[in-house]
Amino acid sequence: MMNQRVADITKSLENHFGEPKWAGGGRPLNSLINTVLSQNTNDKNRDAAYEALRKKYPAWEDVMNSSPAEIAAAIRPAGLSNQKSVRIKHILEWIYETYGSLDIDFICSRNPQEVIDEFMQLKGIGIKTISVVLMFTCGVDIFPVDTHVHRICRRIGLVPDNASAEKTHHLMQSLVPGNKSYSLHMNFLKLGRTICKAAKPRCDECPIVRLCNYGVQLNQSSNQNR
Ligand code: SF4
Repeated sequence: MMNQRVADITKSLENHFGEPKWAGGGRPLNSLINTVLSQNTNDKNRDAAYEALRKKYPAWEDVMNSSPAEIAAAIRPAGLSNQKSVRIKHILEWIYETYGSLDIDFICSRNPQEVIDEFMQLKGIGIKTISVVLMFTCGVDIFPVDTHVHRICRRIGLVPDNASAEKTHHLMQSLVPGNKSYSLHMNFLKLGRTICKAAKPRCDECPIVRLCNYGVQLNQSSNQNR
């Protein structure tokens, strides 16, 4: 029953926003560092920090061999730069020690669950981060739960209201229709940025209002007040 509801939501969002298709892209290490930079900031600041980092250090080896203070100076726009610089350096060192190089393109041809288990040993890499890398750069059919997706899943009632992002990730994997993770993730982002906003959802404009607990309750209480 819940699977059917998620299938209906996926279809309704595709009808409304279009069906996003994964076009392939990028290298896993670039995506990994980009995702670490994105923690607790917006896309604009993340992109500014990433560009500044790549400009200062065209090769990842140079970042690995640099000091956290030097890295922090480059990624300042992303915020929490002292914490993120230590994490990035540590991640690069761990990759180099574990795999013998900083080329991790091979993770796209490995078993995704093994990749998740290995990378989640690292501080600063949670299930969201590694799922983003696997979905965006490798095209794996995995459904990352970021802040928009987490909020929307709880409002709709697909997961309990008190479910953590990690719990939401695990619950949603079996609910999303096969080969639709990318489409639903991207359309939830669009919905979260334009309609199901954090502060005040605009349920009267929402294409999935009839499939959402929050939207249905809101409609019922406004009908009662008429
Ligand atoms: S009906 Fe409202 S709460 Fe539900 S998904 Fe749409 S905007 Fe968000």
